[in-house]
Formats: sequence, C-alpha cells, structure tokens
Amino acid sequence: MRIAILYICTGKYTVFWKNFYLSCEKYFISESEKHYFVFTDSADIDFEKENPNIHRIFQENLGWPNNTLKRYEMFLCVEDKLSQFDYIFFFNSNLLLLKPITTEEFLPNEKENLVACLHPGYFNKKRKEFTYDENERSSAFIAKNEGVRYFAGGINGGKTSSFIEAIEKMNESIKKDSKNNVTAKWHDESHWNKYLSKRNDIKVLSPSYLYPEYSNIPFEPKILIRDKRNYGGFAKLRGNFNLRLFLETIKFKLTRYLRSISE
Ligand code: UDP
Repeated sequence: MRIAILYICTGKYTVFWKNFYLSCEKYFISESEKHYFVFTDSADIDFEKENPNIHRIFQENLGWPNNTLKRYEMFLCVEDKLSQFDYIFFFNSNLLLLKPITTEEFLPNEKENLVACLHPGYFNKKRKEFTYDENERSSAFIAKNEGVRYFAGGINGGKTSSFIEAIEKMNESIKKDSKNNVTAKWHDESHWNKYLSKRNDIKVLSPSYLYPEYSNIPFEPKILIRDKRNYGGFAKLRGNFNLRLFLETIKFKLTRYLRSISE
C-alpha cells in the first residue's frame, strides 16, 4: 500500500519538519510505503539526501493566509504523481505522532472515501457554536440548518481519487472567491468543512489525532498539535509581527517557567 503525505513548511515553519518526519516514519501505518511531498521555500530539508521518498517541491512563501489557503492549488501541481498512490494525507506542519497508528484506525473502509478529524475545540459544542463561514458571498458558506460536525483543517485526506476530486473542487471555490474579493472565515478549513457538509462517506477521526499540547480533552493523545508559542508564537512563525500575540507568548513562557521552578 502506497501513501502520499502532503506537508507544507514555508518560512519559519521548516522548524517542525524534522520531528514530524521522524515521528511519521516511526508511527504512521508501518506496513505502508510512504512518500513525502514537502512544499517549501527552503533550499534543502533534513533527510532528503538519505531518503529518496522525500520529494521537496519549491513553494514560494505566499504570506498569511495564502500559505495555508492556497494549499489545494499547491497539491494540484503534483496531481500526476499523487494519482499513483492509494491514499493521500495532508498533515499540518506542527504535528507530532506519539503512538503507532494502524490501518484500521486511520484509513477509510470500503464505504468511506475521505478522512477528516473533529476539531479539538468543537467536538463537544453545539451546531450554533461552530465557526462555519456565515458569509453568503463566500463559496464556503454553510446555512444555519446545514452541517453537523466541525472538522479541523490540520488533517485532510482519503482515498486518492476522492481526495483529488475534493482538492480540485475546493481549489475552484477558492479561486472563485478570490475573483470576488472574498476570503473564507477560516481559510482552507472553511472550504474543507463546506465540502464535507455535503458528504456521507467520511471516516471521522476523534481529536486523539489532533490533540493540542497541554490540553486535557478526554481523548488519548495520538497526534499532538505542538504549541506554536514554544516556537515564538503565530506572529513570529508567520512572519507578521503582532504586539498582542508577542506579549501573549511572553506571558505563556513566563507562566511555564514559574510553574517549572515551583514544581
Ligand atoms: N504554513 C506555512 N507557512 C506559514 C504559515 C502556514 O507553511 O508561514 C502552513 C503549515 O503547514 C501550517 C499550515 O499552513 O501547519 C496552517 O497554518 P497555521 O499552522 O499557522 O494555522 P493553524 O491551523 O494552526 O491555525
């Protein structure tokens, strides 16, 4: 079985690659042949020389939010290569696999085609609290009487033909919005939720597979979302300085330091 792993790390997000890769090699569906498609503006990335299954694809740093919003367009640049795999999965850069992940728990069965993960912040929330796109001009708009689950953008994937069809459709929607000067509320995540809202062939993963570091949600942590505040915070990583986020990061680090010396 052959699996394509899609991974974007432009700008400072390359800091996450090394440990993501090592943990994915160690724990993700051990019987599969994994190929990594890494979209980055970096001239080289760890392990690419030793592992011919790492395919670095030059991707210009598009700034925020295009580094994430234009992900489907990036993936389509290697559509021909992707079509040769059985399954395709995108992982956010700051993920770290903690435990062995098996075929049975992660791959879609014969009735399922796409794989999506419940958002760790919304698994226990009511429909009215979901942050779907409510802008009627956006192609990611979901009406109040539609949508039953809120999925996270951190993992997207599925069987190859279904996932390629999904990224083609979402890319068309994002391009249409761009022509109309519309940006969906949570970028690619809003489009993913919209696309999934019309489907009943989804393998739904619990937040075990997107478990925020330092969280205590009632799931076994299997894939950790590493806390960006340990890497300078969102603003620094994304390259757009923001005083409020900077101060929040300092406060977070100080609190952790004080807690560590008092333990
Ligand atoms: N990303 C990137 N460079 C950037 C910003 C984002 O490579 O400057 C990619 C990276 O794969 C990241 C994903 O886009 O995991 C989603 O962005 P981010 O993690 O900032 O958003 P979140 O989903 O955590 O809100």
